[in-house]
Amino acid sequence: MQRVRLHEIAKRFGTTVVLEKIDLDIEPGEFLVLLGPSGCGKSTLLNIVAGLEEPSGGTLHFGDRDVTALEPDQRDIAMVFQSYALYPTMSVARNIGFGLKMRGLDRAGIEAKVADVARLLQIEHLLDRKPSQLSGGQQQRVAIGRALVREPQVFLLDEPLSNLDAKLRADMRVELKRLHERSRRTTLYVTHDQVEAMTLASRIVVMNKGRVQQCDRPELVYAKPANRFVAGFVGAPT
Ligand code: ADP
Ligand code: MG
Repeated sequence: MQRVRLHEIAKRFGTTVVLEKIDLDIEPGEFLVLLGPSGCGKSTLLNIVAGLEEPSGGTLHFGDRDVTALEPDQRDIAMVFQSYALYPTMSVARNIGFGLKMRGLDRAGIEAKVADVARLLQIEHLLDRKPSQLSGGQQQRVAIGRALVREPQVFLLDEPLSNLDAKLRADMRVELKRLHERSRRTTLYVTHDQVEAMTLASRIVVMNKGRVQQCDRPELVYAKPANRFVAGFVGAPT
């Protein structure tokens, strides 16, 4: 479990300001949800934490370590994207184990870890299949498994459920919550869906136009919205 601290993180693309001095303190083991409308800068912020995007200003710490200038593979993170991006020619087991092979773990070690994760996500019966033989929900489980198996200090998810239908989304919400209760990894989760935010978050960060509008426990965001934007956004139906 690792604390993640963002201090005055800013991002410009050319002259367009996408993030203005974002300060966030993600507690060890916390499930923090970034919630806001499309285009408000959620993915950009997550990508900066992942090291996929360089901030224009500010600093990022994991625990005591300044990771602002580190490459993604030096940060001890794992990320799940909206599109699962599984390797189409590899079996589910190889998809999940691939990152471990790259790290030089031996075959028995990889198999044991893959089996653990598959059990956790209830995809043990799918390990020999190819991604094209899976439903969308199953593919997303594999994508989550591939990230989890690396046992990252910080777990990052960018709208991981938005390609799923409503029923699957509801099921996966429950599973993600259970998963977090068991693993207690520090998690930063991006969504524009307030139901997801409400269900999963220990705290919600409501963003709009590159700024944090409010950062509070879900019940407080609903009961005491900081401004009209928050009230309108969390009150609107999905
Ligand atoms: P969200 O994930 O909340 O939908 P994004 O972080 O993807 O928002 O984008 C925030 C803003 O930054 C948008 O206006 C988007 O058009 C802009 N943006 C994102 N990436 C780039 C880029 N590489 N170059 C220029 N503008 C970008
Ligand atoms: Mg996005």
